[in-house]
Amino acid sequence: MTNHLVNLRKELHQHPELSGQEEKTAERIAEELSKCSPDEILTGLGGTGVLAKFSSKEDKAKQAILFRAELDAIAVQEETGKEYQSQKDGVMHGCGHDGHMAILMGLAHMLKKESYPGLDVFLLFQPAEENGEGAARVLADQRFQKIELNHAFALHNLPGYPEHSVLIKPGVFAAASVGVDIHFKGKTSHAAYPEQGSNPSLLIAEMVSMVNEKLRSFRQNNPLNKAVNSYIRLGEQAFGINPGIGKLGFTLRSPSDKQLGQAVETIREIGEEISSNFEGTLKIFEVEPFAATINSEKGVEIVKNATMESVVEISELDEPFPWSEDFGEYRKKSPITLFGLGAGENSPALHSETYDFNDRLIETGIELFRAICMHYSSEKEKA
Ligand SMILES: [Zn+2]
Ligand SMILES: [Zn+2]
Repeated sequence: MTNHLVNLRKELHQHPELSGQEEKTAERIAEELSKCSPDEILTGLGGTGVLAKFSSKEDKAKQAILFRAELDAIAVQEETGKEYQSQKDGVMHGCGHDGHMAILMGLAHMLKKESYPGLDVFLLFQPAEENGEGAARVLADQRFQKIELNHAFALHNLPGYPEHSVLIKPGVFAAASVGVDIHFKGKTSHAAYPEQGSNPSLLIAEMVSMVNEKLRSFRQNNPLNKAVNSYIRLGEQAFGINPGIGKLGFTLRSPSDKQLGQAVETIREIGEEISSNFEGTLKIFEVEPFAATINSEKGVEIVKNATMESVVEISELDEPFPWSEDFGEYRKKSPITLFGLGAGENSPALHSETYDFNDRLIETGIELFRAICMHYSSEKEKA
């Protein structure tokens, strides 16, 4: 079985698809899932999402849990030189979602053979995790809204940590983040007649410096609060032109959804102040918003017990991770627990050109998820 899953993982790796465009991946997943005879398969969920339901066989289910994997890849040119390297220029599975899919598929094969009395298990292959849109779109899908869940679980492989170790934390596990995109529209003119145009360059410079200044207290509030000027665009390398259109963006991160919201508000206020001196318009957009991923205490205990059975090292984190995950969105539906699975201390970082999923984690991931199913099933028997 492991060989079969490794081959599937490598096959998915060769054909990566960007967020929201995961048609072929979803098709392949649905085809493979159908071999595991789930009681129900939903496709096209929130775009390209696939959901399989494995119902309790012996009796009516008392509880329902969900495990999530992600379908999407990222816009990076792969440089691993592996024989199964991405066949698509500029797109690669650089976050290991190919491996997460293989783990969930392994669980599907288990669920075909094994039964967990009293427990319905849902396996969700979610689209568009990387741009933060997928979870919200799945949650907005009416077919998903009809499903009742007691808990949702997911794991993410984490290079830089001991192989097969579990990294977990109750409460905030991964930060909230948002992009704040600012568009200035003035008036373009000949560089010989700047008075006929409206060039936003000074206002852009002022905006960068004011945001830096006014978000100082936001940054000082918590070492995990971050504000970065992520891009600036103005004009072309054309010296006869006085440009009228400019754009810039900031990325904000915080373990607190509230503090993040206040920081966005501060940028909006700065924008308003600045635009009063501008002959033109200024528009502010919030893009790629991720809620904080806040783990349930009970779920963390369940994962810890699951790791005992699978005999892997467990470390409880003191601080949340500064990166974001759209898994946090599922808290709108049920308690959630996301944990990290160490991919090896020396393995290349996520989102780097040389990253590749560590196939040895497939079996560990399946065992962990299986132990969680056993926990819920035995909990029901005790009740
Ligand atoms: Zn990623
Ligand atoms: Zn990821």
